[in-house]
Amino acid sequence: MKFYLSSDLEGVACVTGLAGQTLSSAPAQYELARKMCTAEINAAIDGLKTAGEVEIIVEDGHGNGTSNLLYDELRRGVKILSGVPRPRRLTGLDESFAGVILIGYHPMAGVEGGVLSHTFSSVAVHNMWLNGRPVGEIGLTAVQAGSLGVPVIFVSSCKAGVQEAKDWIPGVKTVAVKEGFGRNCALSLHPQDAQDKIREAVKRAVANLDMFKPVRLNPPYELKIEYKLESTAEAVCRREDCIRVDARTILKRSRDIFALY
Ligand SMILES: [Zn+2]
Repeated sequence: MKFYLSSDLEGVACVTGLAGQTLSSAPAQYELARKMCTAEINAAIDGLKTAGEVEIIVEDGHGNGTSNLLYDELRRGVKILSGVPRPRRLTGLDESFAGVILIGYHPMAGVEGGVLSHTFSSVAVHNMWLNGRPVGEIGLTAVQAGSLGVPVIFVSSCKAGVQEAKDWIPGVKTVAVKEGFGRNCALSLHPQDAQDKIREAVKRAVANLDMFKPVRLNPPYELKIEYKLESTAEAVCRREDCIRVDARTILKRSRDIFALY
């Protein structure tokens, strides 16, 4: 059985940010996040392995997708996707996979109490909607995997991120590793408690795989993006095939969800 484990850094235990900075620009938080994320991925891998023979791709998904994890500390036997540019999001995922696992994901931009909440770029993107519904990275990833017929079976994040996952992915197994008291303040589980919960929840998910359904939306897909700056919307519209909705907002439409982002 094949599983695809996509990772981000903002939604792992004990990690918060510094006001006005991205995680990558705050060295102590970034190093902590790399360590926590690697350990949480290992816990998820241990949970997946209870299903028997498994093939696992671990996607390094934060920022430029390079060296965000301690690759040599990951469990042996997995394959690791790193580097950019990639042919598309979820590179390597296809119809043959049994499920997708999201570790360290974070809530969409603008969510109250969402730890390090943002949508792809905390400096560029103000809001995003998919087929008219506010969406962040969790929802878009679920729909992209769903378009290939693959369900997202587990998500770990902060409490707000877990709520977002449940809203987009009915029936998904989740672990909230921390609760936000603001964007840069959280009450977290102890790292090893978070890892125990992730291992157990993933184990339960793979024991009940037929419970999970891919998230499917009817094409054509419409992605509307409101940028922080008018100049960003202008530049995107010059470069890509899209409609300018207003000074800061663009709309892209396609029957291929991967063509949109
Ligand atoms: Zn990230």
